[in-house]
Amino acid sequence: MTYEGGCRCGAIRYRITGEPLSAGFCHCRMCQRAAGTPVVAWVAFRRDEFRFVKGEADSFKASARATRRFCPHCGMALTFEYAACSATIDVTIASLDEPYAPEPVYQIWMSSRAPWLHTES
Ligand SMILES: [Zn+2]
Ligand SMILES: [Zn+2]
Repeated sequence: MTYEGGCRCGAIRYRITGEPLSAGFCHCRMCQRAAGTPVVAWVAFRRDEFRFVKGEADSFKASARATRRFCPHCGMALTFEYAACSATIDVTIASLDEPYAPEPVYQIWMSSRAPWLHTES
């Protein structure tokens, strides 16, 4: 299976050749601040099945153990790589060309979930 996606402005494109490993909602404060939204829906793939095929995503070290990549032109959040999980990469579901295929099945960091946000998974 091939999944493709990219940022809003089209400068950054990526392709995944493989199946999603899992998908879910993260309510952590770092995701909230990185994306400017109360929750981020992520889908995980094998890192060796993911590659950027257009443009140069910018990145920042969200912590000593995590790297977030985003488009330097439109700012869209694209990926999250956790050093302790070097085999996988998280991709923002909304950046996929078909964003509703991998259905979120878990929720994490419920302690910082916005109390008025009701997500099911
Ligand atoms: Zn962009
Ligand atoms: Zn998070």
